Amino acid sequence: MTLARTLALYGVRCLLVERNAGTTRHPKMDITNGRSMELFRRLGVADKLRAVAVSEENNFDISWITSLVGRELHRFRYPSVAEKRLEILARNDGTQPREPAMRVSQVMIEPVLRDAILGHPLVDARWGVAFEDFQQDETGVTVTLRSQETGATDEVRCDFLAGCDGGTSAVRERLGIALDGRAAVAQRYMIHFRSEARELLQAFGIAWHYQTDRGTLIAQDDKDTWTLQTRPPPGVDPAAVDPNAILDAWVGRAFPREILVANPWSTHLLLAERYQVGRVFLAGDAAHQYIPTGGYGMNTGIGDAVDLGFKLAATVKGFATSGLLDSYERERRTVGYRNRIASERHTGVRLKIAELYRNERDPEALGRAIAALGNAENESWGIEFGYRYDGVEGDPAIYEPTTAPGARLPSVFLADGSALYDHLGPWFTLLRFGDADPSPLIDAAPAPLEIVNVAEPRLAPIYGAKLVLVRPDTHVAWRGHDCTDGDAVWAKVLDGRLA
Ligand SMILES: Cc1cc2nc3c(=O)[nH]c(=O)nc-3n(C[C@H](O)[C@H](O)[C@H](O)COP(=O)(O)OP(=O)(O)OC[C@H]3O[C@@H](n4cnc5c(N)ncnc54)[C@H](O)[C@@H]3O)c2cc1C
Repeated sequence: MTLARTLALYGVRCLLVERNAGTTRHPKMDITNGRSMELFRRLGVADKLRAVAVSEENNFDISWITSLVGRELHRFRYPSVAEKRLEILARNDGTQPREPAMRVSQVMIEPVLRDAILGHPLVDARWGVAFEDFQQDETGVTVTLRSQETGATDEVRCDFLAGCDGGTSAVRERLGIALDGRAAVAQRYMIHFRSEARELLQAFGIAWHYQTDRGTLIAQDDKDTWTLQTRPPPGVDPAAVDPNAILDAWVGRAFPREILVANPWSTHLLLAERYQVGRVFLAGDAAHQYIPTGGYGMNTGIGDAVDLGFKLAATVKGFATSGLLDSYERERRTVGYRNRIASERHTGVRLKIAELYRNERDPEALGRAIAALGNAENESWGIEFGYRYDGVEGDPAIYEPTTAPGARLPSVFLADGSALYDHLGPWFTLLRFGDADPSPLIDAAPAPLEIVNVAEPRLAPIYGAKLVLVRPDTHVAWRGHDCTDGDAVWAKVLDGRLA
């Protein structure tokens, strides 16, 4: 849906098929990170997403407890959206995101994305239609679709095909692309439920997650909707597991609730060996699957969709040469790999904490030990904002603002209170600091280009160059104090090379 929205924004027609009749009932993701929110803002859906998310006044705290009828061991404190917005404005040094993260479940987010494409004149979105097979040749892709209701098949011809069809991707399977990494790393059991028992489920005050060595209770709206992610009891057939008994045991006592969905699932650490074969691409979970520690699954997929979307659009519109599409795999698979390692690393911390629970009987000492291990899974700003397409890895924990080509453009707010990000054009943008001559890049531009004059000298050092050319995905394409050969810069940028 994010890819369809991106293509529509750039004026490209697409057909989206989803085999299910509706959006997901499984809560799955519960954190949309600040980077995804920046990208969603550019797609015009950030405010609509915020409207279905947890209140902007509520914190993002992670609290380790003995149980909900026991005691709190340690709380990692994180600001609410409202507090984070103030912090962003106060710092305003390029280290901060344009958008704070958002607490929201996938059950809530998917209908907003659906509504953003349903009825769009450029998107033909069909629910209840499954992808079955494809054949590609030099000029396009012929795809076979099947109606889930009638069983009737249909063939459509398209220029490109993107398999955004999740972990069991049929597109990936038809391409014969293998997965690298570890499948079924651990078994999990999810119980999604409704309950008014806030005095129990938020016994130590509002927190996004209450955690023990046996799982995590996610407050989905700080009101009445919750998800327990835990382990299935060992040796019990998953089909025979009683979710009510698991809930009572985890919480510490019986309480009134209605179970919405409960099922076992497996965690994976997998990366597709290729993201592209000819005119067919993989994005999202079809390309990578992570353990949710860190919340990198969907967030990485949003990055894939926006990267692929603008490259497909630039190709369809005739702005790009073939190298631009080829750069999708090079750029996004590197991020996919890095995020898989980060997710595994964060899981390692959780395992260490579980060991502490087993061995440390003094709650004060246990709390201190948890604090000392830290909570990098929700603080890895280098992973979330510092990923770069120039091969430079950087510290996973720290985001350092830079306009090195391939890096995400640093975000600042201008003196009039507006965000520099909100002045960027939908396609390319040239930031101009001071008196640099932009005309070689303007005259040679083969794609739409917005010029933004930044007349605030205090901001110039953050951007480090008098001219900064920004791609549609808000990564830097090129920078320099002057440009003598605009044609050469554009030729590289639109061939997917960093200039
Ligand atoms: C417990 C849990 C917690 C998570 N927490 C987070 C988090 O906090 N943050 C985060 O970023 N991520 C999180 N994730 C990961 C996130 O849910 C996934 O990464 C995300 O859903 C992937 O999106 P996707 O669109 O690529 O794939 P999916 O969401 O799997 O969507 C693929 C869609 O394709 C459809 N489909 C499949 N095959 C076909 C076919 N042949 N024809 C037509 N349609 C088809 C499916 O029905 C499905 O709707 C979590 C996951 C889990 C399980």
